[in-house]
Amino acid sequence: MNDDLQNLITLQELDSVIDGLRLREEEMKTSLESEKVAAAECEQRVEEAKARNQECTVLVRGLETDVQELDDKMEKYRGQLNDVKSNREYASLQIEISNLQDKKDRVEEQIIKEMEKCEEAKLEVQAVEAARDKERQVLQAKEAEQQKKIEVLRGKKRNEEGARENAVAKLRKILADKYNNIRTVRGGLAIVEVKGGSCQGCFINLPPQLVIEVRKGVEILDCYSCGRILYINE
Ligand SMILES: [Zn+2]
Repeated sequence: MNDDLQNLITLQELDSVIDGLRLREEEMKTSLESEKVAAAECEQRVEEAKARNQECTVLVRGLETDVQELDDKMEKYRGQLNDVKSNREYASLQIEISNLQDKKDRVEEQIIKEMEKCEEAKLEVQAVEAARDKERQVLQAKEAEQQKKIEVLRGKKRNEEGARENAVAKLRKILADKYNNIRTVRGGLAIVEVKGGSCQGCFINLPPQLVIEVRKGVEILDCYSCGRILYINE
Protein backbone atom coordinates (compact mmCIF):
# COMPACT_ATOMS: atom_id res chain seq x y z
CA MET A 1 0.00 0.00 0.00
CA ASN A 2 1.36 3.43 -0.85
CA ASP A 3 2.25 5.98 1.82
CA ASP A 4 -0.62 8.30 0.91
CA LEU A 5 -3.19 5.59 1.57
CA GLN A 6 -1.44 4.60 4.77
CA ASN A 7 -1.42 8.20 5.95
CA LEU A 8 -5.07 8.65 5.02
CA ILE A 9 -6.00 5.55 7.01
CA THR A 10 -4.08 6.87 10.03
CA LEU A 11 -5.77 10.25 9.64
CA GLN A 12 -9.20 8.62 9.46
CA GLU A 13 -8.53 6.60 12.60
CA LEU A 14 -7.53 9.73 14.47
CA ASP A 15 -10.52 11.68 13.19
CA SER A 16 -12.91 8.91 14.18
CA VAL A 17 -11.46 8.95 17.70
CA ILE A 18 -11.69 12.77 17.84
CA ASP A 19 -15.29 12.68 16.56
CA GLY A 20 -16.14 10.11 19.22
CA LEU A 21 -14.59 12.24 21.97
CA ARG A 22 -16.44 15.31 20.73
CA LEU A 23 -19.72 13.41 20.72
CA ARG A 24 -19.14 12.13 24.24
CA GLU A 25 -18.47 15.67 25.41
CA GLU A 26 -21.72 16.87 23.83
CA GLU A 27 -23.64 14.00 25.41
CA MET A 28 -22.07 14.74 28.75
CA LYS A 29 -23.08 18.40 28.55
CA THR A 30 -26.72 17.50 28.00
CA SER A 31 -26.74 14.62 30.49
CA LEU A 32 -27.57 16.90 33.44
CA GLU A 33 -30.65 18.40 31.79
CA SER A 34 -33.11 16.46 33.95
CA GLU A 35 -31.25 17.48 37.15
CA LYS A 36 -31.31 21.10 36.00
CA VAL A 37 -35.05 20.90 35.33
CA ALA A 38 -35.61 19.39 38.79
CA ALA A 39 -33.54 22.17 40.39
CA ALA A 40 -35.48 24.85 38.50
CA GLU A 41 -38.76 23.28 39.62
CA CYS A 42 -37.55 23.42 43.22
CA GLU A 43 -36.71 27.11 42.85
CA GLN A 44 -40.18 27.73 41.50
CA ARG A 45 -41.85 25.85 44.36
CA VAL A 46 -39.92 28.04 46.82
CA GLU A 47 -41.13 31.19 45.08
CA GLU A 48 -44.71 29.95 45.05
CA ALA A 49 -44.65 29.00 48.73
CA LYS A 50 -43.17 32.38 49.62
CA ALA A 51 -45.90 34.12 47.62
CA ARG A 52 -48.61 32.13 49.47
CA ASN A 53 -47.04 33.04 52.80
CA GLN A 54 -46.86 36.71 51.81
CA GLU A 55 -50.49 36.69 50.63
CA CYS A 56 -51.59 35.25 53.96
CA THR A 57 -49.60 37.77 55.97
CA VAL A 58 -51.10 40.67 54.02
CA LEU A 59 -54.58 39.26 54.54
CA VAL A 60 -54.06 38.97 58.32
CA ARG A 61 -52.77 42.54 58.49
CA GLY A 62 -55.89 43.74 56.66
CA LEU A 63 -58.14 41.86 59.08
CA GLU A 64 -56.27 43.30 62.05
CA THR A 65 -56.92 46.77 60.68
CA ASP A 66 -60.62 45.87 60.41
CA VAL A 67 -60.62 44.86 64.10
CA GLN A 68 -58.96 48.14 65.02
CA GLU A 69 -61.62 50.08 63.10
CA LEU A 70 -64.42 48.12 64.77
CA ASP A 71 -62.86 48.80 68.19
CA ASP A 72 -62.64 52.51 67.40
CA LYS A 73 -66.29 52.60 66.35
CA MET A 74 -67.42 50.74 69.48
CA GLU A 75 -65.35 53.08 71.62
CA LYS A 76 -67.05 56.04 70.00
CA TYR A 77 -70.55 54.61 70.53
CA ARG A 78 -69.76 53.74 74.13
CA GLY A 79 -68.74 57.36 74.63
CA GLN A 80 -72.07 58.46 73.16
CA LEU A 81 -74.00 56.25 75.61
CA ASN A 82 -73.39 58.83 78.36
CA ASP A 83 -74.85 61.65 76.29
CA VAL A 84 -78.07 60.10 74.98
CA LYS A 85 -81.35 61.65 76.04
CA SER A 86 -83.83 58.78 75.63
CA ASN A 87 -83.98 55.13 76.52
CA ARG A 88 -84.76 54.36 72.92
CA GLU A 89 -81.63 56.05 71.71
CA TYR A 90 -79.65 54.23 74.41
CA ALA A 91 -81.06 50.85 73.37
CA SER A 92 -80.40 51.60 69.74
CA LEU A 93 -76.76 52.42 70.44
CA GLN A 94 -76.37 49.26 72.48
CA ILE A 95 -77.73 47.19 69.60
CA GLU A 96 -75.25 48.95 67.34
CA ILE A 97 -72.38 48.14 69.73
CA SER A 98 -73.51 44.54 70.03
CA ASN A 99 -73.61 44.17 66.24
CA LEU A 100 -70.13 45.59 65.98
CA GLN A 101 -68.93 43.17 68.67
CA ASP A 102 -70.41 40.23 66.71
CA LYS A 103 -68.68 41.43 63.62
CA LYS A 104 -65.41 41.78 65.52
CA ASP A 105 -65.78 38.22 66.86
CA ARG A 106 -66.23 36.89 63.35
CA VAL A 107 -63.21 38.81 62.05
CA GLU A 108 -61.12 37.55 64.95
CA GLU A 109 -62.14 33.97 64.19
CA GLN A 110 -61.09 34.56 60.60
CA ILE A 111 -57.75 35.94 61.80
CA ILE A 112 -57.10 32.77 63.79
CA LYS A 113 -57.87 30.64 60.74
CA GLU A 114 -55.72 32.76 58.48
CA MET A 115 -52.85 32.71 60.96
CA GLU A 116 -52.98 28.93 60.96
CA LYS A 117 -52.74 29.05 57.19
CA CYS A 118 -49.81 31.47 57.51
CA GLU A 119 -48.09 29.05 59.83
CA GLU A 120 -48.65 26.19 57.37
CA ALA A 121 -47.33 28.34 54.54
CA LYS A 122 -44.28 29.22 56.61
CA LEU A 123 -43.56 25.53 57.25
CA GLU A 124 -44.05 24.82 53.58
CA VAL A 125 -41.52 27.51 52.68
CA GLN A 126 -39.02 25.88 55.04
CA ALA A 127 -39.69 22.43 53.60
CA VAL A 128 -39.36 23.44 49.96
CA GLU A 129 -36.28 25.51 50.73
CA ALA A 130 -34.67 22.48 52.34
CA ALA A 131 -35.56 20.36 49.28
CA ARG A 132 -34.24 23.10 47.02
CA ASP A 133 -30.93 23.29 48.91
CA LYS A 134 -30.52 19.52 48.66
CA GLU A 135 -31.26 19.61 44.94
CA ARG A 136 -28.73 22.43 44.49
CA GLN A 137 -26.07 20.40 46.28
CA VAL A 138 -26.77 17.34 44.16
CA LEU A 139 -26.59 19.39 40.99
CA GLN A 140 -23.38 21.15 42.01
CA ALA A 141 -21.71 17.85 42.90
CA LYS A 142 -22.76 16.32 39.58
CA GLU A 143 -21.64 19.37 37.66
CA ALA A 144 -18.23 19.27 39.32
CA GLU A 145 -17.93 15.56 38.55
CA GLN A 146 -19.02 16.16 34.98
CA GLN A 147 -16.54 19.00 34.57
CA LYS A 148 -13.72 16.69 35.62
CA LYS A 149 -14.78 14.10 33.05
CA ILE A 150 -15.02 16.77 30.37
CA GLU A 151 -11.50 17.96 31.20
CA VAL A 152 -10.22 14.40 30.79
CA LEU A 153 -12.00 14.10 27.43
CA ARG A 154 -10.60 17.43 26.30
CA GLY A 155 -7.09 16.36 27.29
CA LYS A 156 -7.45 13.19 25.23
CA LYS A 157 -8.87 15.21 22.36
CA ARG A 158 -5.94 17.65 22.43
CA ASN A 159 -3.50 14.72 22.18
CA GLU A 160 -5.40 13.21 19.27
CA GLU A 161 -5.59 16.58 17.55
CA GLY A 162 -1.83 16.96 17.89
CA ALA A 163 -1.35 13.57 16.25
CA ARG A 164 -3.84 14.58 13.57
CA GLU A 165 -1.82 17.67 12.70
CA ASN A 166 1.23 15.47 12.20
CA ALA A 167 -0.76 13.09 10.02
CA VAL A 168 -2.12 15.93 7.87
CA ALA A 169 1.39 17.38 7.49
CA LYS A 170 2.44 14.16 5.80
CA LEU A 171 -0.22 14.54 3.10
CA ARG A 172 -0.10 16.65 -0.04
CA LYS A 173 -2.55 19.53 0.27
CA ILE A 174 -4.70 18.37 -2.63
CA LEU A 175 -5.15 14.99 -0.97
CA ALA A 176 -5.81 16.47 2.47
CA ASP A 177 -8.46 18.75 0.91
CA LYS A 178 -10.05 15.82 -0.88
CA TYR A 179 -10.14 13.84 2.35
CA ASN A 180 -11.63 16.77 4.32
CA ASN A 181 -14.26 17.43 1.66
CA ILE A 182 -15.43 13.83 1.61
CA ARG A 183 -15.55 13.80 5.41
CA THR A 184 -17.72 16.90 5.42
CA VAL A 185 -20.15 15.53 2.86
CA ARG A 186 -20.16 11.92 4.11
CA GLY A 187 -20.63 12.36 7.83
CA GLY A 188 -17.07 11.87 8.99
CA LEU A 189 -15.99 8.80 7.05
CA ALA A 190 -13.71 9.61 4.08
CA ILE A 191 -11.70 6.46 3.57
CA VAL A 192 -13.21 2.99 3.88
CA GLU A 193 -12.25 -0.60 3.47
CA VAL A 194 -13.47 -2.84 0.70
CA LYS A 195 -14.74 -6.14 2.07
CA GLY A 196 -16.23 -8.97 0.04
CA GLY A 197 -16.15 -6.72 -2.97
CA SER A 198 -18.30 -4.02 -1.45
CA CYS A 199 -17.62 -0.53 -0.20
CA GLN A 200 -17.91 -0.44 3.61
CA GLY A 201 -19.10 3.15 3.45
CA CYS A 202 -22.23 2.72 1.33
CA PHE A 203 -22.20 -1.11 0.96
CA ILE A 204 -22.57 -1.08 -2.78
CA ASN A 205 -20.94 -3.87 -4.77
CA LEU A 206 -17.92 -2.60 -6.63
CA PRO A 207 -16.85 -3.69 -10.13
CA PRO A 208 -14.28 -6.53 -9.87
CA GLN A 209 -11.76 -4.56 -11.89
CA LEU A 210 -11.93 -1.68 -9.40
CA VAL A 211 -11.47 -4.10 -6.50
CA ILE A 212 -8.35 -5.49 -8.20
CA GLU A 213 -6.95 -1.99 -8.60
CA VAL A 214 -7.75 -1.09 -5.00
CA ARG A 215 -6.02 -4.26 -3.81
CA LYS A 216 -2.81 -3.16 -5.54
CA GLY A 217 -2.82 -0.10 -3.24
CA VAL A 218 -1.00 2.08 -5.75
CA GLU A 219 -3.58 4.64 -6.76
CA ILE A 220 -6.05 6.71 -4.78
CA LEU A 221 -9.39 5.27 -5.94
CA ASP A 222 -12.91 6.31 -5.00
CA CYS A 223 -16.16 4.43 -4.61
CA TYR A 224 -18.24 5.35 -7.68
CA SER A 225 -21.36 5.55 -5.54
CA CYS A 226 -20.44 7.44 -2.36
CA GLY A 227 -17.15 8.97 -3.44
CA ARG A 228 -15.17 7.68 -0.45
CA ILE A 229 -11.56 6.65 -0.90
CA LEU A 230 -11.13 2.88 -0.93
CA TYR A 231 -8.49 0.55 0.45
CA ILE A 232 -8.01 -3.12 1.12
CA ASN A 233 -6.09 -4.19 4.20
CA GLU A 234 -4.32 -7.46 3.59
ZN1 LIG B 1 -19.29 3.68 -1.29
